[in-house]
Amino acid sequence: MAKKGAAPWVGAHVGGGIANALARAEAIGATAIQLFGSSPRSWRATMPSVDAAKAFRAAREKSAVRAVFLHAAYLVNLASVSPDMYAFSTQSLIDHLKIAEMIGAEGLIFHLGSGKGGDREEAFAREIVAIKKILAAVPGKTKLIMENTAGGGGKIGASIEDVARIYHAVGAERLQVCYDTAHGFEAGLVEEYTPATVKKLFDAWESAVGMDALAAIHTNDSKTRSGSHHDQHENIGEGYIGLRGFVALAHEARLREKPWILEVPGFDNEGPDKKNIDILTNCFT
Ligand SMILES: [Zn+2]
Repeated sequence: MAKKGAAPWVGAHVGGGIANALARAEAIGATAIQLFGSSPRSWRATMPSVDAAKAFRAAREKSAVRAVFLHAAYLVNLASVSPDMYAFSTQSLIDHLKIAEMIGAEGLIFHLGSGKGGDREEAFAREIVAIKKILAAVPGKTKLIMENTAGGGGKIGASIEDVARIYHAVGAERLQVCYDTAHGFEAGLVEEYTPATVKKLFDAWESAVGMDALAAIHTNDSKTRSGSHHDQHENIGEGYIGLRGFVALAHEARLREKPWILEVPGFDNEGPDKKNIDILTNCFT
């Protein structure tokens, strides 16, 4: 049952790196955040200094932020047919997971990538081997979190079955899942989010991986239609999912205690803003 009156964890992807993320979160009223631990456009990760990591942990103690996630570099593709791309991707995730551990983040969220140009079974095998290697290379508490995708182009992770297959093959408590509302919609998991389709969808997630494995909800409207396989985020209520869709999602009791992270363009095109946070927060009432 949803806890009536409990404030939802509504948060956002924030820019500015480790030094500025918490202040930016506070400025828009976010109680959960996602940030890049290092440049998302580079293979090479820059590790924060021990002092910077310590400062982040201390600032977090005093802030209203209750959950912190890192997002992996855009280039990462553990399903890649290219041995170089595969090796760079594995190392990049090891480095970013180390940063997550250093700053005490709940986890590192990454996209499963695409096995385009190769055999799909082999792509799954590559994913599983790499994920085991990454977890073994970074001991600790921080989670490695796979995100569902919009599909298309040989992408892995567009279906609940894809995600569950990797989850069970790796079989590690530190491997978790992030559900992206836009990606699920674009992948065609639902034609629209209604109380009935949301229940059915999360019944399926629950039986596939269990609700404890769901670490966060990436909360995005979509510029494209259901089943488009075209990943384009939109501000909450401005896309094809629409406000009614988010009201249906917000009223699913199993999602109530999860961190909801916005990755939307923002009404001024400067990233997730207070207006999106307020609109989403209102969906819970
Ligand atoms: Zn996402």
